[in-house]
Amino acid sequence: MRGGDPLTPEPIPLARPLIDEREEQLVLEVLRSGRLALGPMIERFEGALGDRLGARYVAAVSSGTAGLHLAVRLAGITAGDEVITSPFSFVASANCLLYEGALPVFADVDERSFNLDPAAVEDAITPRTRAILPVDIFGYPAELAELRELAERNGLAFIEDACEAVGAEYRGRPLGSLGHPTVLAFYPNKQMTTAEGGAVAVGTEEEWRLVKSLANQGRSDDGGWLQHVHLGFNYRMDELSAALGVAQLEKLDRLLALRAQAAEYYTAALKTSVDVELPWPDNPEHRRSWFVYVVKLAEGVDREAVITAMSAEGIATSRYLPAVHLQPYMRERFGHAEGLAPVCENISRRTLALPFFPSIAREQQNRVVGALKRAIDRAQ
Ligand SMILES: *Cc1c(COP(=O)(O)O)cnc(C)c1O
Repeated sequence: MRGGDPLTPEPIPLARPLIDEREEQLVLEVLRSGRLALGPMIERFEGALGDRLGARYVAAVSSGTAGLHLAVRLAGITAGDEVITSPFSFVASANCLLYEGALPVFADVDERSFNLDPAAVEDAITPRTRAILPVDIFGYPAELAELRELAERNGLAFIEDACEAVGAEYRGRPLGSLGHPTVLAFYPNKQMTTAEGGAVAVGTEEEWRLVKSLANQGRSDDGGWLQHVHLGFNYRMDELSAALGVAQLEKLDRLLALRAQAAEYYTAALKTSVDVELPWPDNPEHRRSWFVYVVKLAEGVDREAVITAMSAEGIATSRYLPAVHLQPYMRERFGHAEGLAPVCENISRRTLALPFFPSIAREQQNRVVGALKRAIDRAQ
């Protein structure tokens, strides 16, 4: 029973979207309009998202993964091409390459930012390399200038997976506004949600038209409904999701501020009382958009014991993130093993995501911090 039993503490979830009457109102508007797909709400969402990001050409799609796949198509990446990407990521940033028969090449990451290390990327370039695909992990911008310079110098395409980083800024500019294809995602645990959904920001109208066409079964925008000029996909966002997105964009600054305040509170509380490494702080070039709050346990702490102890107190945590190259299907297909990306593997063994969402209460955060401290004291 919730609340009533003092022996059973109220569970604290890992993530939770913030939805209110505005989302209800706009979703209801779509339902009552009878227009559930390819309608005005998509255009409204794309326009509002573009305005917020300072990006002229934004295409809404059905998921971040779909957006990444389209960005890979757009770059002309095909079977046998190598693309250098991060092993410390969600699997979608590598899977989008496999869909086209291309080969993800995992360069190691920086142990503080958890993002691709430009020196490791440079070392991984071969004559078969076609592109670099950095990920802004946990909302912290990757080393975009160094990586893009490497791509330009070597004639490589550049695709940014900003699926965890809507609202983040690199050198004072929002991700998505930097001119290269940038993919965003709006799954319910992200900073803003459309339920399922994503978007691709590109630098030119021509690229935008191609992404829109590929997401819509390869239709041309001037031909008839059943005229298909490319092999496309059904990667369209629907009108209900777009309505959610419009409402979430209206409150995005507040959502981001609430997340930043919750992060600040964790950081202050953990810094003085618990032996963990905290998320890498912002600097003039990198401004994080808070997606998750992930701590790194000290070497030698039994992470599984910590997870179990927290769970016994009703607190959800998660192993964010397992190394992509060590996922079972990756090991099976490519024979990858430990040692391919040692920095990433060390981070993956030690990191733990704590409950983190805009409406998390200070009292809940205090419980998390107390439980983490007790669990760590017992787990080493
Ligand atoms: C969330 C996420 C995606 C996209 O996920 P979808 O569930 O397909 O929207 C892609 N890359 C990273 C790094 C992500 O965290």
